[in-house]
Amino acid sequence: MAVDLHTHSNVSDGSETPSEVIRLAANAGLRAVALTDHDILAGLDDARAAAERHDIEFIPGVELSLDWRSLAPDADQRGGMHMVVLWIENQAGPLQDRLADLRLGRERRNHTILERLASLGIDVPMEEVLARAGDGSVGRPHIAAVMVDRGYVPDIAAAFDLYLGHGAPAYVSRKRLTVEEAISLARASGGVPVLAHPHTLGFEDDSRLESLLRHLHSTGLIGVETHHSAAEPGRRRILRRMADRVGLVPSGGSDFHGTYKPGIHIGVGCGDLHVPDEFLEGLRAQRAVL
Ligand code: AMP
Ligand code: ZN
Ligand code: FE
Ligand code: FE
Repeated sequence: MAVDLHTHSNVSDGSETPSEVIRLAANAGLRAVALTDHDILAGLDDARAAAERHDIEFIPGVELSLDWRSLAPDADQRGGMHMVVLWIENQAGPLQDRLADLRLGRERRNHTILERLASLGIDVPMEEVLARAGDGSVGRPHIAAVMVDRGYVPDIAAAFDLYLGHGAPAYVSRKRLTVEEAISLARASGGVPVLAHPHTLGFEDDSRLESLLRHLHSTGLIGVETHHSAAEPGRRRILRRMADRVGLVPSGGSDFHGTYKPGIHIGVGCGDLHVPDEFLEGLRAQRAVL
């Protein structure tokens, strides 16, 4: 059986409601699914209730964007380090308490992005972005969607390539947890920290990636996504062997965002993803000894 340990709902930058995400996971024949919205836990209660109706195991989660300059001086020129935290509950706790702060940082950043776009002659009203996002965690995909609606770009990918992505003219960074803070807050909150989609770190050289993973393991990281929609099957095998060598538990998921990332489906990713349930059991075993 398969699982999917990385998905997004419309509580952050996915298009489907939390209960729809769960329904899709159950329809796909998955044994378990995690909801991992960006910086927000507001979808977890509905998702859990839906999971009970659909008789599928639910793992509450969250995804964080990290500051990793302590590990690579050129981190910000490379790419994003994201962390999925599994088994994080929607209640008070050390990590939970920091999320409100991160969402405030997002809000400020989003305003600055719209100012930059305006200076480039692109008019994106905040009301339209907020209307797209609902009352959850607002992100660049919502801004991108309004740019598409208004005819400035043909699709969301073009909005990122031309304007919003790293290195593009309206790119603005925001407040992030450091990787060390994130690992320790996650563990102190009973969550299992997993490095998401390692390809976005931008290492062309696997030996550098491997030494980084080794270091993160010694800092308290528990898992790494070896299986992700953006990794080819051959790449998944390489990453899985690397995870074994450095002592990290393999994890994986589709990173489903609904219509915000067309072509990526729950459970199967672009079609060839299969995250075995032994990954979930490996992570659960580590959770038990946190
Ligand atoms: P934010 O959380 O607002 O910084 O935006 C992050 C979201 O933007 C994540 O869902 C990413 O998957 C998405 N994203 C980042 N870069 C790109 C890109 N080049 N094309 C499409 N989506 C992207
Ligand atoms: Zn997202
Ligand atoms: Fe991510
Ligand atoms: Fe994600």
